[in-house]
Amino acid sequence: MPTQIKYPTISDNLILESVYEHVRSAASPGMATALTIETELSDAGLDSLARMDVINAIEQHFKIRFKEDSLYDLETIRDLVELIECELQPDDVDTKATLAVETTPPTSKRAESVGPKYEHATMPVHISMLPEIVQFENRVSGMASAGLQLPFFRVNEAVRGSNANIAGKEVVSFTSFDYLGMAQDAQVMKAAKDAIDLFGTSASASRLVGGNNTLLEALDFELAQLLGAEAVAVFPSGYGTNASLFGHLFNEEDLILYDDLAHNSIVQGAKLSTAKRRAFPHNDFKFLDDLLSDIRGNYRRVVVAIEGVYSMDGDFPDLPRVLDVKKRHNALLYVDEAHSLGVMGPTGRGICEHFSVSANEGDLWMGTISKALGSSGGYIAGSRSLIEYLKYTTPSMVFSTALSPASAAAALTSIRVLAKEPERVTRVRDHAKLFLKLADDCGLNTGNSDQTPIVPVILGNSHMCLWMSQELLKHGINAQPILYPAVPENASRLRFFITASHNEEEICRTVQCVNVLFQAGKKLFAEGS
Ligand code: PMP
Repeated sequence: MPTQIKYPTISDNLILESVYEHVRSAASPGMATALTIETELSDAGLDSLARMDVINAIEQHFKIRFKEDSLYDLETIRDLVELIECELQPDDVDTKATLAVETTPPTSKRAESVGPKYEHATMPVHISMLPEIVQFENRVSGMASAGLQLPFFRVNEAVRGSNANIAGKEVVSFTSFDYLGMAQDAQVMKAAKDAIDLFGTSASASRLVGGNNTLLEALDFELAQLLGAEAVAVFPSGYGTNASLFGHLFNEEDLILYDDLAHNSIVQGAKLSTAKRRAFPHNDFKFLDDLLSDIRGNYRRVVVAIEGVYSMDGDFPDLPRVLDVKKRHNALLYVDEAHSLGVMGPTGRGICEHFSVSANEGDLWMGTISKALGSSGGYIAGSRSLIEYLKYTTPSMVFSTALSPASAAAALTSIRVLAKEPERVTRVRDHAKLFLKLADDCGLNTGNSDQTPIVPVILGNSHMCLWMSQELLKHGINAQPILYPAVPENASRLRFFITASHNEEEICRTVQCVNVLFQAGKKLFAEGS
């Protein structure tokens, strides 16, 4: 058996020296010459972005990962050193060994004798014993013993308009983003069935190499017309479009700035790219403007990624303001219209129509056809040359099977139905306004929801959210909770998607029921706490 080698503890000094070094290399020239442990990071000349660069570099150097919320209070070099010490778990011999290798150039014998970083790396392990799986099982069984069921993966046995059958019972659902009722429209459903008769159930290849068809070509064309863009490319998946686009267009010389509430697919896309990335405070374009004034010159390309309507809160950005910022700083704008297409603007053409702005003023208009267009899939709209390039080169287009014929036909027919029946847009908006007004009248907290069909009822207590979702189902209402970590615990909520298919009676009954349960829940959870 090899003898256990003792490595020196990584002293505070070593950490401190390393932090000084990282700060100096990221700070503005001349700013970080006389550093002490009490120096504030801002005094060392680190703007917010350079700060993130230091943090990223330190994480890589020490092979640690800081928790996001531990970074908010970081002010001085001492704070940073303490945070590193915390993450290093000083009793862990392996960590020290890694550090010894990191801080001393790996000169032959010593590096070799360090041995594997993870002692059990070569031992077989049963997949079910992975700590994250065990932890998850414990959490679920903890909830079950507290009398709470997980409300996720509820099984719909049938869906008709705004109603669904769940566990043998008819309920009114507020979980579907079929905003305009297209997924349940007779013309749309027939078109999907006819497409199966003509092309079969699958495109059976990527668009580039055999999976393209007349439905997809017509969909590209009619979506471009709807959006007022030069051209559109329809992708197999909305999530995949975001996840693939950023890495395709941006590299290590570039910067991706995304709204703090951007969808996971945008954040994943940014992470998967080699570009620098950071979030900016939600809808704070003054912050964005100031940030770009500071740092624009450090990057080849900067792209600002926002959404047309935010899916957790139901609010939307000031598009003219962000267009102004992007133009002045020579940045690109990427707008995800997943929840604004079909619901914003008098005829549902999205955020551009809402603000009377031409799509040519932005750069990349992403969207999904899985919401208001009653189908499944994503798209990018933009200039003709951009779209042609993306069609031939984007990995999620080139290497992924095209949208199924039924999905393409459904989206295409939805666009045509929308043109004939723009009153669907007015109907969903009226329903949303009614829900919001009734909820506000009861004093329910609907956050920043701004006349869009997404209305949160913020409860600020995950257990109460779970309980209310469970109780609502007993009363024939299906609404999902959104819990930590999707939102901060004090912002945990029930989220209601309002559609054109709902009716006034369903909306009134639901808000009334939510209010009664909320009053009961307040007492129950105050007593319990
Ligand atoms: N963007 C946003 C804002 C979304 O809410 C979603 C999913 N709901 C997606 C992208 C991913 O789209 P899809 O579900 O069509 O893959």
